[in-house]
Amino acid sequence: MSLNCDIVKDLVALYHDGVASEASEAEIKAHLKECESCREYYKQYALTTPASLNLNLSGPGNYGELAKHMRIRRLWMLVSALAYVSASICALIMLLMRMKRK
Ligand SMILES: [Zn+2]
Repeated sequence: MSLNCDIVKDLVALYHDGVASEASEAEIKAHLKECESCREYYKQYALTTPASLNLNLSGPGNYGELAKHMRIRRLWMLVSALAYVSASICALIMLLMRMKRK
């Protein structure tokens, strides 16, 4: 192992985001292969930062995935807003009809 574990743990964030230099990336990769505790640390880091995983480790594929996700969420918000509005309109109409009948 050429790198110290503390240094690897510092650099894991850069490595994970894909912004480490090629040299340190190679060193970290080699270290993670050999060092159980750093591998575990890296796994935990990757799990706790899904956002940067989506944005950075990334081909256009992952970015498209994120955009799709956001579009679906926006669609859901629109749908639930429409459902709310039409439900209140229905309630209003039923109320008016009942009032007319009397
Ligand atoms: Zn280590």
